[in-house]
Amino acid sequence: MESAAHHKLLEHVPCFLCGADDYDIIHRARNGRETDGVDSQRFRASGDELLVDQLVRCRHCALQYVNPRLRGDLILSGYTEGEDPAYVSQLKARERTFASALDEIERAAGATGRLLDIGTAAGAFVAAARDRGWQAEGCEPNRWLAEYGARHYGICIRQGSVFDQQYEEGSFDVVTLWDVIEHTTDPRAVLERCRALLKPGGILVVNYPDIGSWIARVLGRRWLFLTSVHLYYFDRGTIRLMLEKTGYRVETVRPHIQRLELDYLLSRGAVRSRALSRFSRALIRPFRIARAQVPYWLGQTFVVGRKTSGLLTVLGLEL
Ligand SMILES: [Zn+2]
Repeated sequence: MESAAHHKLLEHVPCFLCGADDYDIIHRARNGRETDGVDSQRFRASGDELLVDQLVRCRHCALQYVNPRLRGDLILSGYTEGEDPAYVSQLKARERTFASALDEIERAAGATGRLLDIGTAAGAFVAAARDRGWQAEGCEPNRWLAEYGARHYGICIRQGSVFDQQYEEGSFDVVTLWDVIEHTTDPRAVLERCRALLKPGGILVVNYPDIGSWIARVLGRRWLFLTSVHLYYFDRGTIRLMLEKTGYRVETVRPHIQRLELDYLLSRGAVRSRALSRFSRALIRPFRIARAQVPYWLGQTFVVGRKTSGLLTVLGLEL
């Protein structure tokens, strides 16, 4: 049902990669679903509501994004409030995922140093990095997660977005965005901010769900990452272009296998099929494997970029 009030909550946005306002519709908005309710449960780290808004693809650069979408100020305020115990129940599994990623980050960075994790949620990655000798900290808009993580791990998590913080420019060796870029209202501004915070030659790490991956293409509208909290859907081409435009040289793009507990994964499957999810969870219960950590891959992609020098970026050249 469309109403005047409904339209005020939505905004039309241009392509944040190339600036064009010229697109094809990939998925139309779902009818009969609530799209104008702004509740804090929708914008949480473990948010898994089906995508209800319209997904479009820019005719000029092929970036896929939600348009029109909920107003940016409402999205950020949604992230700030609310509790997310479902997310923190998976901290152990997340810590294991991060250990292998840190091997690769340390190879790219050459040594440990100062690290900033943006949208760190409860700080599992900050803690994993600290345990390996990094001087690591994070920021997180959600008050509850920021406080929980700081207490649970004894780490520094500043509440708010990266734009709310007073970090010194050129002071970090590594900046990471784990499953964050697709949630932001202006990914280009976020990447530019990260670049400013990095030392010369510093490393940017982005992990995102790739809509061009074979599994996303096979699943189509049933792809698990097609959710209402994701505003941008990158593929290898558009993520590379976005990083190059914001002053990075892309060094690595590869599939990234993450870990979650089996029961949690099956409960997330409930969004796609409640009956199947209930059945499979009942099936595993007697075997005491509900809390087993299982690797899964549904298109998550790991990207390493290195900050280029300003002059070369202006000239559109790469080192
Ligand atoms: Zn575009």
